[in-house]
Amino acid sequence: MEDIMPFLPITVEEMRQYGWEQPDFVIVTGDAYVDHPSFGTAIISRVLHQAGYKVCIVPQPQNDKDYNRFGRPKYAFLVNGGNIDSMVAHYTAAKKRRSDDAYTAGGKSGSRPDRAVTVYTKKLKSLYPDVPVCIGGLEASLRRFAHYDYWDDRVRPSVLIDSGADLLMYGMGEKHIVEIADRLAAGEDISSLTDILGTCYSVNAAEYTPISGVQECGAYELVSVPDEKGKRLYAKACKIQQAEHDAVRGRTVIQRHGQKIVVQNPPMPPLTTEEMDAVYGLPFMRDYHPSYEKFGGVPGIKEVKFSLIHNRGCFGACNFCSIAFHQGRQVSVRSRESVIKEAKQLTEMPDFKGYIHDVGGPTANFRRPSCDGQLKKGLCPDKKCLAPSVCPAVKVTHEDYLKLLRELRALPKIKKVFIRSGIRFDYLIADQHEEFFKELVKHHISGQLKVAPEHSSNRVLKRMGKPPIEVYNRFEKRFYELTESVGKKQYLVPYLMSSHPGSTKKDAIELAVFLKKHGLHPEQVQDFYPTPGTVSTCMFYTGLDPDTMEPVYVPRTEREKAEQRALLQYFKPENKALVLSALKKEGRLNLIGTGPNCLVAPDKRQGYSAPKKPKKTIRNIHKPKKK
Ligand code: SF4
Repeated sequence: MEDIMPFLPITVEEMRQYGWEQPDFVIVTGDAYVDHPSFGTAIISRVLHQAGYKVCIVPQPQNDKDYNRFGRPKYAFLVNGGNIDSMVAHYTAAKKRRSDDAYTAGGKSGSRPDRAVTVYTKKLKSLYPDVPVCIGGLEASLRRFAHYDYWDDRVRPSVLIDSGADLLMYGMGEKHIVEIADRLAAGEDISSLTDILGTCYSVNAAEYTPISGVQECGAYELVSVPDEKGKRLYAKACKIQQAEHDAVRGRTVIQRHGQKIVVQNPPMPPLTTEEMDAVYGLPFMRDYHPSYEKFGGVPGIKEVKFSLIHNRGCFGACNFCSIAFHQGRQVSVRSRESVIKEAKQLTEMPDFKGYIHDVGGPTANFRRPSCDGQLKKGLCPDKKCLAPSVCPAVKVTHEDYLKLLRELRALPKIKKVFIRSGIRFDYLIADQHEEFFKELVKHHISGQLKVAPEHSSNRVLKRMGKPPIEVYNRFEKRFYELTESVGKKQYLVPYLMSSHPGSTKKDAIELAVFLKKHGLHPEQVQDFYPTPGTVSTCMFYTGLDPDTMEPVYVPRTEREKAEQRALLQYFKPENKALVLSALKKEGRLNLIGTGPNCLVAPDKRQGYSAPKKPKKTIRNIHKPKKK
């Protein structure tokens, strides 16, 4: 029966095709249903189905009829907001509503509510008060403690409290969900599931007995007060939460919310290579559900359809990125055999044209944990592996990645294998052997390689948790040398971010000068976007670096953000007025003019002209002073 309908059911008719009368679990999600391992819903549904459970999916419910589509599941509803936070999906960094949505059929925005996890859970709890609701995915994971919400411009409570869910799974949820399912199926009540790693639950404060070593963050009522004291407490809470997100040494973390306490159990260990292989070997359809065809499909599939994910986790841990607080800093990988097997499947797909678009993950060139010591002791809580410089304990090697890429290139029907995920260039140039760098340049770039120096001011880079710009300069120099040696024309496209905490207008000018010197004309620049749960968002809200508690300058006004952004594209005529304004305010008149080192020409229309040296006329040289 099951091979008739290879996608998991999203309608009652499809459920009946499976021969099911009632689902064990219903997944309610903020995205359209795409059965591809880049989508969280696809992974969780496949893992549960593989474990023997009947799983149905309600993508983007619009009304009660949708929520009631499958009736009451036997064990629980599982809710996620989609592949990305619903507020990030809906709004730009300038808080403007987006019109497009890569995770919705037809690509149009408007099929999921703001803060989808909370809206879906509340609705399910009103319709089925006695059915457990477990929440997970990026939105739930990054909002698991009291968190600054940029769009509300205030600290919101943990999404567990806000939504009224029974259990929250954080991080990548394969192991959590199977344990939850097995224990519910064995007759345990959801309220007794308080010992599962990688989950958060809430208890009445009066009933909670703290266990030894528990780490307590400031209560929601205190960290949400927008004064100096509240912000200091918020920054300290952020430090605790980030430091304890370690599967080896992470401890239980609690946070009071009124009469309730949110309890976070230590993280679930990352999947082993065998477990990763098993997950990625599940029978994904690698496409959107056929019912979306009439809307033109789901655009999000295009980026990933012919891409391969080979790793998880990131020890780069940039402060503005949410990966470290979701997937963790410990890198885990699939075996080469598993990736090759998936690649062969891709080559058999009817629309495969011979190109693998990516062999990556959060960072493409990580194929092992940063050091061996972390497997016993955990990752260092007060130190980054790559910034400000590469830790001496880091094992720098591209050997296995290189083997994987060579094996992929050698497969029949494959013309090219590209790498589109970010390459960590500091790790790359720390490698004593250059084979990977050489083969990257020769085989794996489709004209342009995207890299992320993010800024050129070392003051800003320090706040971002990135290496100093000199490291990028070394990488850039060698990249072009190697490119020339193979007779290719290909370029670096640097990702840059304006207005990150710590970035003053002086820093933005320094970046503009850097761009000019390096002949870079960035087409796109990204304003810093304070998304939930990152260290940089904590800096944005509190004006403090939670690692050091040092005050951090934060560009906040629209005008300053516009000026910083304009400086990154100083060459665009429409940015001229903003660039001139910023340069004048900072007294950098030497950068206004038509000389080779100037950023903009003077604006004659406004009657402004660049400062001129006083003319040495007979009159002003020889005019005798009046006595
Ligand atoms: S010892 Fe170095 S490489 Fe290992 S976790 Fe600590 S900072 Fe990272």
